[in-house]
Amino acid sequence: TFSVPPRRDLVATESYNIMREVGAKMKWKQIGDIIVLNRNVENPEKYLKMKGVKTVVKIERIKGRIRRPEVKVLVGADTETTHKENKCLFKLDVATIMWSKGNTYERMRIPRLIEDGETIVDMFAGIGYFSIPIAVHANPKKVYAIEINPKAYHYLKENMKLNKVQDKIRPILGDSRIIAPKLSADRVLMGYVVNTHHYLDAALKCLKEGGILHYHETAPEKIKFKRPIKRVKKAAKPREVKILNKRIIKKYSPGVWHVVIDAKID
Ligand code: SAM
Repeated sequence: TFSVPPRRDLVATESYNIMREVGAKMKWKQIGDIIVLNRNVENPEKYLKMKGVKTVVKIERIKGRIRRPEVKVLVGADTETTHKENKCLFKLDVATIMWSKGNTYERMRIPRLIEDGETIVDMFAGIGYFSIPIAVHANPKKVYAIEINPKAYHYLKENMKLNKVQDKIRPILGDSRIIAPKLSADRVLMGYVVNTHHYLDAALKCLKEGGILHYHETAPEKIKFKRPIKRVKKAAKPREVKILNKRIIKKYSPGVWHVVIDAKID
């Protein structure tokens, strides 16, 4: 069995997040044994001197609804790797799948909120960004992990095996707008930032009375909490909404924040 990470891990991650803000101008991040650059550098071969680095790629752009990265391989060839975070293993192909370091704290925060025996619907499961740490560190009855992209779905299933949580997660390949309303959950995760509000109706149909919603959105500074809260309340009407928490996850673009709202919906 696994335990919830001790508080000091979270403190360490928070300070890591601050460092990340400072280092946001940095050109690279390491995912497993791959260096991912966000701009051109001279002599990318130099990264191979770092312990365990096998490939260096550069992100050209991130495309479309499924947030698919386009990368150029600069050094090496293999773009598949296994990244370790918070005692969880995430296998992915950096050429086709996103890995956001800025979401690290959120991926650690969520499992700590789960009460034993909860049924959870993860509407945008990806490779298991939230479903895996929940299954590893908490004790839910079941996590329904919905993912529309077959490539991400493939790694979601791989990661369930790698982390030995096949019994805790039920992966579903498909559109959460169609699938979520057919399910019933104590908690719904909406970890997606392109027009997430278009999925609120589906999320609310799925959420039991008194259930908890984690709603993500990207919003300009001035309305960063106001707009997502307004949207949740509007979609939930006439159900009563209690805002439990609101937090900035990371900077999305100049003047725009990726935020999350935790709301209890009666
Ligand atoms: N929160 C994640 C993290 O911690 O890094 C990142 C979010 S992930 C990029 C969002 C996922 O939602 C993608 O894998 C995308 O394919 C999936 N997705 C987009 N629209 C969907 C839909 N309608 N139904 C199910 N999955 C969807």
